Amino acid sequence: PQSSDHGESAKNLLADKKQTSKVKVIVRVRPPLTEDAKVCVETSDSKVEIFNHRNIKETLQYEFSSVFDKTSTQQDIFSTSIRPLLEHAINGENVSIFAYGPTGAGKTYTMLGTEKDPGMIPRVVRTLFQSLHTPQGKPCEKHMVTFSFLEIYNEKVQDLLNPKETDLPIREDSSHNIFVAGLTEKLIGSYREFSLLFGPASNNRTVAATKLNDHSSRSHSIVQLKVDTWKDNKVFHGKIYLIDLAGSEDNRRTGNSGVRLKESGAINKSLFVLGEVVDAINNGLTRIPYRNSKLTRLLQDSVGGTCHSVMITNISPEESFYFDTYCTLNFASKSRRVINNNLPSISDVQPPSEKPRALKRSKSASDFGP
Ligand code: ADP
Ligand code: MG
Repeated sequence: PQSSDHGESAKNLLADKKQTSKVKVIVRVRPPLTEDAKVCVETSDSKVEIFNHRNIKETLQYEFSSVFDKTSTQQDIFSTSIRPLLEHAINGENVSIFAYGPTGAGKTYTMLGTEKDPGMIPRVVRTLFQSLHTPQGKPCEKHMVTFSFLEIYNEKVQDLLNPKETDLPIREDSSHNIFVAGLTEKLIGSYREFSLLFGPASNNRTVAATKLNDHSSRSHSIVQLKVDTWKDNKVFHGKIYLIDLAGSEDNRRTGNSGVRLKESGAINKSLFVLGEVVDAINNGLTRIPYRNSKLTRLLQDSVGGTCHSVMITNISPEESFYFDTYCTLNFASKSRRVINNNLPSISDVQPPSEKPRALKRSKSASDFGP
């Protein structure tokens, strides 16, 4: 049993402990931004490969739930990994979707998208209303959706629908639901009503989005949708979080030298603790350090337990982003294989036996020094 100081949500308490759902980790590699860019990332099925900078004869191979390559569309990601979660929210469960990765890797593109090619946030809202109006299963008698938009910056919660509020407290009610006290909640009845509120508020964040170390790359931007539905005279409270996380390169104090990555992770406390929380959940630990940062405290009732979470890991394919990519993949995947590409020279090749031997020799990650 978990200790009460970690205050699980009501939903987590109700869950059969054995059924704690993991955070699904997927990867999206954006297309190269220039035609002549040197690319260092290869993908196949559920694997991502980069070279090992410590030994260029080796390849590092990482495994994920799904990998989306540079040809993947917003629609591919939405229909495969996001859309199936919406039904859970309509049934009163909590859902969280976050984009993780260094600045420039495509987090905002994936979550927000463009006018012509909308990202996960507009697609979720549009599809949510479609599903509420034409339900697949039992229709609900009534529904209510509210929208909030907040940001965590320097461990402070700011209300983006009311920019005067820059340090709101996170609280827990008697049913272990987590909420931000004083946060603006706008009732929305359609996608259009959502976009009229969201458009102006999100502009603040995206203007200078590509400048390294600007406000937007150091803050976590969070869309919260509360979905209440009534079926058979019962009310169900679901919640959806859509999060464009701070740039993960903030984890590095030492620039691209790649030293002390874990330690300097504390520069962005919420991002660092999120990694610990996801690890703890995915390794089936009972003590989840939700309370150690603002972001994870907020997500306490929406990650782990019976909740449904997807982390979209965004990476850039260019060699110039190699160290960002290396760090991001190490953060996001706990299964790494080192593949030795040191192919034998012709004279070393043994005459073929009955079973041909694979030329690639694989080592486990533990063979690979720190
Ligand atoms: P981040 O939010 O992670 O800092 P952005 O979403 O701002 O990164 O992406 C950086 C640049 O790459 C932007 O110019 C964006 O339009 C472009 N980009 C990102 N992902 C894609 C994609 N999948 N297809 C095309 N362009 C992309
Ligand atoms: Mg961004």
